[in-house]
Amino acid sequence: LNNLLEVSAWNAANRTNQTALIYEDRSTTYGEFDKYSSQVAAGLDSLNVKAGSRVAILSKDIDYGYEILFGCAKSGAVLISMNWRLSARELKYILEDGDAELLFVQQEFVDLIKEILPELPLVRNIITIEGDGSKYPDYQSWRDGFSALNPPSFTPGEEDAVLQLYTSGTTGKPKGVQLAHYTFFRLLHHMYNAGDKWMDLNDQDVLLVSLPMFHIGGLWWAVQGFISGSTNVLIDVFIAWKVLQLIEKHKITKIELVPAMLGFCLSEPAFQTTDFSSVKAILYGGSPISDVLMSKAAGKFGCDFFQIYGMTETGNMAVCLRPEDHHVNGVKRLNAAGRPLPGVEVKIIDPSGRQLKATEVGEIYIKSPSVMLAYWKNQEETDGTLVDGWIRTGDGGYQDQDGYLYVCDRIKDMIICAGENIFPAEIEAVLCEHEDVAEAAVIGIPDDLLGESVKAFVVLKPGAVLKSRALIGFVRARLANFKGPNSVSFIEELPRNPSGKILKRVLREPYWTGRK
Ligand code: AMP
Ligand code: MG
Repeated sequence: LNNLLEVSAWNAANRTNQTALIYEDRSTTYGEFDKYSSQVAAGLDSLNVKAGSRVAILSKDIDYGYEILFGCAKSGAVLISMNWRLSARELKYILEDGDAELLFVQQEFVDLIKEILPELPLVRNIITIEGDGSKYPDYQSWRDGFSALNPPSFTPGEEDAVLQLYTSGTTGKPKGVQLAHYTFFRLLHHMYNAGDKWMDLNDQDVLLVSLPMFHIGGLWWAVQGFISGSTNVLIDVFIAWKVLQLIEKHKITKIELVPAMLGFCLSEPAFQTTDFSSVKAILYGGSPISDVLMSKAAGKFGCDFFQIYGMTETGNMAVCLRPEDHHVNGVKRLNAAGRPLPGVEVKIIDPSGRQLKATEVGEIYIKSPSVMLAYWKNQEETDGTLVDGWIRTGDGGYQDQDGYLYVCDRIKDMIICAGENIFPAEIEAVLCEHEDVAEAAVIGIPDDLLGESVKAFVVLKPGAVLKSRALIGFVRARLANFKGPNSVSFIEELPRNPSGKILKRVLREPYWTGRK
């Protein structure tokens, strides 16, 4: 299998009556799933959405989202899956940058979209998900208005994108990472050829998809489920007690999550009484995990833990720490990110471009068969990140003598809060839009539950009086709420080096001293 179309067709032919998706009390078989996605493709065709056109979705995780993904794949359209926590102005930027022609939007986000629609002339059509059909067609009846019998015939080429996911960056402007079908398959082929069974996903598995479909982590995991014929159980938004219920109810076998989600589950009262006996393996990644959390979780779940390290640009996982890696040669390696997967190469580079030896710390570069195509319409950023087939991760780390990778530093200025990446540059720019703010610097400070939380240091203009509550509100009105600082300190001036560069290290020090 080499693309999503083949996966859908194969499953429809060979696993017709097996359950593909479960969302709340609705379940969809592989036969139905193939039919629905063909209907979507026919619907896209009727709206004149051509191969290569961009279709956007703004929705919490729901079975329809995956029908739309496969429908886009069948018609050659590229799906832009957007973070529903973003603000109207952030969404406008993405829809505009992405040249979106059609938007699927869950009813609860329609008002948010209405604000910006007049400024988005390219968006020709809107279809609501779980809407009442009064103003815009509702997805389910729209889909069912088309026949699955003659969907457009499209065969994806190697270089055709199927997905476009936006990641913010150190420049503060989100970039559209274009991913091809091969992102979901090539690494798998390498692993298969190397006899690597990895998590042994198979058609007896019931996967919990707890990461959102606007991040590669969630999409990639669900697609791995489709490839192996598993049943994917969706949850629209991660809520720990609901997750615990779903695990018991559907006898979930394998789960993917970020460490903060593990933490949320552990602090639920129901955690003590939940039956985890069906759970065979948990895959975690996206941020480091603390020793304390890991040992608590391992004790309770009593299942295998796999860690992955990678990024959207590498097509999700590139490096993996497996249960058998936890102790090797008498060394405890729980703090490692793991070893490169078959077909993946890792190298460590110093600022002068020199390749470093084992144990030396530098920037992590990754070469993966699942690598992104390019950033959408952004050659400059693409050239800065994708160098001779290698992705510059912006993460600092080293490899030990046995080839294990340790991620120990961040070269890119980024905060990871409950698995969401937050770029200070974006928040600093908004803070400086406030008329009373002279300058601002944003850092991450340790947070036991979230990993890190956002803290702003602000220098006010002479004579200005401003409360931190008001300033936090100002940011939240313009950016996703999770990017709003949790605290603001007003200071006289920002620490700078002689050439004027803000020394974030100095701001961070009092919070991080004595911690990892
Ligand atoms: P994203 O593109 O949103 O998937 O974010 C990728 C970034 O998340 C990486 O560059 C790392 O900074 C961080 N990250 C992902 N996985 C891990 C991990 N296992 N350990 C530490 N940091 C990670
Ligand atoms: Mg907001």
